[in-house]
Amino acid sequence: MTDSHKPLEDLLHENRHFPPSNEFVDQANANNSDIFNRGKNIESFWEGHAQEFQWFRKWEKVLEWDCPWAKWFVGATTNLSVNCLDRHIKSWRRNKAAFIWEGEPGEERVITYADLYRDVNKFANCLKSHGVKKGDRVTIYMGMIPELPIAMLACSRIGAIHSVIFGGFSVDSLIDRINDAQSKLVICSDGAFRRGNIIPLKRNIDEALKSCPCVEKVIIVRRIGEAAQFHTVEGRDLWWHRMMQEASPWCEPERMDSEDPLFILYTSGTTGKPKGIVHTTGGYMVGVGTTHKVVFDIKEEDVYWCTADIGWVTGHSYLVYGPLCNGSTNLMYEGAPDWPERDRFWSIIEKYRVSIFYTAPTAIRTFMRWGVEHINSYDLSSLRLLGTVGEPINPEAWMWYHENIGRGKTPIVDTWWQTETGHIMITPLPGITTTKPGSATKAFPGIEVDVVDEEGNTVKEGGGYLVIKKPWPGMLRTVWGNPDRYVQTYWSKFKNMYFTGDGCKRDKDGYLWLMGRVDDIMIVGGHNLSTTEVESALVDHHDVAEAAVIGRSDEITGQAIVAFVTLKLGVKGTQDKIEELKSHVARKIGPISRPKEIFFSADLPKTRSGKIMRRLLRDIAEKRNLGDTTTLADPSVIQALREKYEED
Ligand code: ATP
Ligand code: MG
Repeated sequence: MTDSHKPLEDLLHENRHFPPSNEFVDQANANNSDIFNRGKNIESFWEGHAQEFQWFRKWEKVLEWDCPWAKWFVGATTNLSVNCLDRHIKSWRRNKAAFIWEGEPGEERVITYADLYRDVNKFANCLKSHGVKKGDRVTIYMGMIPELPIAMLACSRIGAIHSVIFGGFSVDSLIDRINDAQSKLVICSDGAFRRGNIIPLKRNIDEALKSCPCVEKVIIVRRIGEAAQFHTVEGRDLWWHRMMQEASPWCEPERMDSEDPLFILYTSGTTGKPKGIVHTTGGYMVGVGTTHKVVFDIKEEDVYWCTADIGWVTGHSYLVYGPLCNGSTNLMYEGAPDWPERDRFWSIIEKYRVSIFYTAPTAIRTFMRWGVEHINSYDLSSLRLLGTVGEPINPEAWMWYHENIGRGKTPIVDTWWQTETGHIMITPLPGITTTKPGSATKAFPGIEVDVVDEEGNTVKEGGGYLVIKKPWPGMLRTVWGNPDRYVQTYWSKFKNMYFTGDGCKRDKDGYLWLMGRVDDIMIVGGHNLSTTEVESALVDHHDVAEAAVIGRSDEITGQAIVAFVTLKLGVKGTQDKIEELKSHVARKIGPISRPKEIFFSADLPKTRSGKIMRRLLRDIAEKRNLGDTTTLADPSVIQALREKYEED
C-alpha cells in the first residue's frame, strides 16, 4: 500500500522510537520512573526539591492558590544570588569555572565561582551607591558578555527587578520596554560584536533615552572601545570599570520574600505585541534549579552549553539561574554560529569538550542547510546529551540532530515551555523516557498539563488546546502593570486552566506533539490542519531546509495552504520542484494538505529569537498591511518576500 492510501491518522504516526541506552540509564540523575508517581502530589514534590536550596526562613505553606493568583513557599525568604554563588564558594566549587566565555573575535575568559561572587558583590554595591533599592527596575541591554549575568545577579542580590532587553532590539523596542517597566537605571555595553560588525548599543540607548524620562543613570561596560563612537552624558553616564575599582567586595544580600518580583521579561512577540512577564523569587528558583538538574542530567564535571541569548527566557533560566543554582560550568559564546566560518559551534564543542548542548530548531535547520561538511572534521565525542527548545522540531530535523551531532547515541530532550512558564514543562527525562522524533513527550513530574477541546474537555487521543491545570512554581504571576491582560490572555479561555496558546496532539501512548500556535491553525475544506504538520512534511523532503506554512482565505476551501520554502544550498527552485513538493506533502499527510501555492525564499521572516513569524506571512498572502514588525530579526526579508509574492 502506498502512503497516499493510508488513513490520515496513520500517516501522522511516528514509528521511530529511541529508548535511552543502558549506559546512560546507569549514570542518570533520574532513572526510576517512580519520580512520576512522586510528581502526582504537586505540593510535596516541589517541597521536596525546595529543601535542596538555601532559605533565610522556611515557608509556612507550600502553595496558596486563588486562581489565577498563586503564591509558592508562602512566608519564606531567600536570595537567588546567594543560591547561585554564596553556597558554592564555601565548598571546593570556589575555584570551579562558572563561565567559560569565548568572544566572537576569539578571546577567552574563565570566570570561577569565586570571581563571579566577588564581581557580583562589587557591582551590587555600585548599584546601591547610585540609589537603586529593592523593587526598583533596572534595564540591561548588552551583548553576550560576562558582565550581563553579573549585572543580573547583582540586581537579584539587592532585590532590584531586572528587565533584560535583547541586544538586537532597536531604539523603538527599547523605548517601549524601558517606559513600560519605568526603569530608573540602564546598564549597557558600549557596543556588541556581531559577525565582525559593531552594534552600537550605547548610541541606541542615547537615542531611546530622549523618550524615557524615568531613567536617571546609565552604566556603560567597555567592550568595543574607540570604535563604538558615542558621547557620554555628564552627570548621567558612568563607566562600569571605574565604579568597580572602588567598590567594596561584600554586599549583604537582601532578604527577599519568596513572592517578591525577580525580573520582568518581554515575550518574543511572535503572535503580537510583547507582554512584560513577571517572575518572582522562590518558586522560580526551585523550578529552574530542579528542572535544569533533572532534564539535563547535570553532573559536576559537565561542560554545559546553552546557545540561547540571555535576552530570552531560555538564557535567563538555563544559562544563568538554573545552571548557577546547580554549580555547573557554563559555556558562553558571544557571537554568531557562522563567524568567521560555519563551523564555529563545532570548533567550540571540540575545544572545550562540551558535554551538554542545548539549542533551537531554527539553528538545527540552518545547520542542515549548510551541510555536514562543516561538522565532520570535528571531534564531538564529548557530547553526551542534546536539547532543543523554541519551536516544534520537525521529525527530520530531530533525526538529523540525532545522527550528525549526537552520532546516533546521545539522548535528545525536546523541551516545551514559554517565557510565561519560567521553566521547562514538557520534556523527556533522558534516563527514563523513550523518545519519538518530533514529540516533546510528557509533562515534567509535578506539572499537570492536558489537551482539551473547545469546551475544555480532555481529549484522550487526538488534537486540541494545550492547557496547564495546576499551578507550578515558576509560573508568571502577572503581566507587568497590567493584571487584566494577565487574566484575559491566560485565564479566560477556559475556567481554572492556564491557556498556553499552543495546539497539541496526544497519541495513543499519551505522548504530546506540539502543533504550533492555535492562531496559526488552518481550516481547509472543513478540516483542521496544523502548520507544523505541513511544514514537517516539507522538511521531510531531501531538498528542503526550512518551511513556513500559512492558511490564506480562499473562497472555495475556506483557507488555502501557502508554503514559503527555503531549499538546501545548491538546489534550484524550479516549477517542477514546486509540483514535486506539493505531491510530497499530499503523499505524506493526505491530499487535503496539498499546498495551493509554494514560494521559494532564501530567508523566512523570523523573530530575533529565531521563530518563524507566520502572522506576517499571512498579512502578505492576504495583501494586508503588516502587523507589528518590531521584533523581526531582519525587516528586509519580509519586504523582499512581499515584493516577490505580489510579482508572482
Ligand atoms: P509571544 O508570546 O509574544 O507571541 P513567543 O510565544 O514566541 O512570543 P516565547 O515565550 O519565547 O515567546 O515562546 C514560547 C512559545 O515557543 C511556546 O508557546 C511554543 O509555541 C514555542 N515552543 C517553545 N518550545 C517549544 C517546543 N519544544 N516545541 C514546540 N513549541 C515550542
Ligand atoms: Mg507566547
